[in-house]
Amino acid sequence: MAERKVRVRFAPSPTGALHIGGVRTALYNYLFARQHGGDLVFRIEDTDSNRFVPGAEEYILESFKWLGIQFDEGVSFGGNYGPYRQSERRDIYKKYVKVLLDSGKAYIAFDTPEELDAKRKEIPNFQYDASTRMSMRNSLTMPQEEVDRLVAEGKQYVVRFKIEPDEDVHVDDLIRGDVKINSSILDDKVLYKSADELPTYHLANIVDDHLMEISHVIRGEEWLPSAPLHVLLYRAFGWEDTMPRFAHLPLLLKPEGNGKLSKRDGDRLGFPVFPLEWHDPKTGEVSSGYRESGYLPEAVINFLALLGWNPGNDQELMSMDELVNLFDLNHCSKAGAKFDYKKGIWFNHEYILRKSDEEIAALFKPVLEAHGVAVHDYTDSYLTKVVSLVKGRVNFVKELWEQARFFFVAPETYAEKDVKKRWNADTPRIMDELAGVLEGIGDFTSKPSEDIVIAWITEKGYHLGNVMNAFRLAVVGECKGPHMFDITELLGKEETIRRMRRAVEVLK
Ligand code: GLU
Repeated sequence: MAERKVRVRFAPSPTGALHIGGVRTALYNYLFARQHGGDLVFRIEDTDSNRFVPGAEEYILESFKWLGIQFDEGVSFGGNYGPYRQSERRDIYKKYVKVLLDSGKAYIAFDTPEELDAKRKEIPNFQYDASTRMSMRNSLTMPQEEVDRLVAEGKQYVVRFKIEPDEDVHVDDLIRGDVKINSSILDDKVLYKSADELPTYHLANIVDDHLMEISHVIRGEEWLPSAPLHVLLYRAFGWEDTMPRFAHLPLLLKPEGNGKLSKRDGDRLGFPVFPLEWHDPKTGEVSSGYRESGYLPEAVINFLALLGWNPGNDQELMSMDELVNLFDLNHCSKAGAKFDYKKGIWFNHEYILRKSDEEIAALFKPVLEAHGVAVHDYTDSYLTKVVSLVKGRVNFVKELWEQARFFFVAPETYAEKDVKKRWNADTPRIMDELAGVLEGIGDFTSKPSEDIVIAWITEKGYHLGNVMNAFRLAVVGECKGPHMFDITELLGKEETIRRMRRAVEVLK
């Protein structure tokens, strides 16, 4: 048999913000598609109208745009297998529901919610299946004429899948191997509801995967329990030969490792579980996002890629292109992956270092503006040099402000404990002298200035540490920051001396 073209899909239900686990699922599908020269389809599974949330679809699309995960076809991308929004495919599903009814693989059931409740009370652990279906109100127990009459009258009904009991169903999973369950534990799942003329997730999902020629279904572990049912549906339609290969990805676990990662873990420990900030249209609640929290998309991608997969060695930093080359479902773990959000912060730090100073400077501009700095007063080369001096000290671009504010505003106050330690009765006189020395320097760049100042300190027999720390305190406002003469080079002679004079005046 000829190798099938790789076609995978990401098929979210638009029920709210996209959870970070969903982002990882989409990423793995993307990597797999790219690696195999295949297609990645974006399908919207919106057959459950009760759970529809306005804005969710747009939110999901914007998230992937930010992250650099590109789709080849689907909602908003077009393609030859559309429509890609399930609510626009009603007629297609109706046709396939009829196929199952006509072949006796499914049946019509009229049981009302009240009747089902009554049964649940009467029979402990009631399940609508081979053991109970013959005592229910459905087309297997009612005369055909009555069924036809009720349907014609517009009576509400559902279509249920008729699952044959006591059969081993095998799911051949690329990550988990042969997963076997007995069909008796499955219930006769509802496939279609006349009330809204829409199929349920299970039917729509299988029909679409088939019609869209999906070759691999890569999705979260939470869907593994549905997989046997899906296998039986493929069989009922006679589509076994083109059934997609399954791969169920490991769960994302709490940072501590026990139990599934939830939004509450993020709130509790202070990390986002959504790619972008999400404004819940119903509750008005705002949830933080990776983008707004200052993460670089490359860092988020790299971090997520390693939650459940590894390249087979201890390489950690990988670009999207490298991930495409290295990704391998065989190296995905079965066991859940702890959501080590601190690792995410570490990745962000690493990607800040890897990006050019120019790129980081561009990202720093809005931060400066937010702090009231007139960015236009500074050249790009000034901003770039500032970034080069401090970027190694931060995990997020916004933290550059704390490290670099003195490049933009002169200190107004001086750190008390540094003053106590570094500023004594002699200091003003020495600072005046030092200002005089600086005044006489021709080339104010870092190294030449440093040589002159150090030579002067030595000649005078001053204490190097005392002089330099007082100098720093005067110019920076506290005893921290990058190399002192890198700072003065950037500030320039005039500003440096101005700050020293001011410190002498204030710190009398
Ligand atoms: N609509 C499902 C979801 O929200 C799709 C599951 C699947 O990939 O089959 O994730």
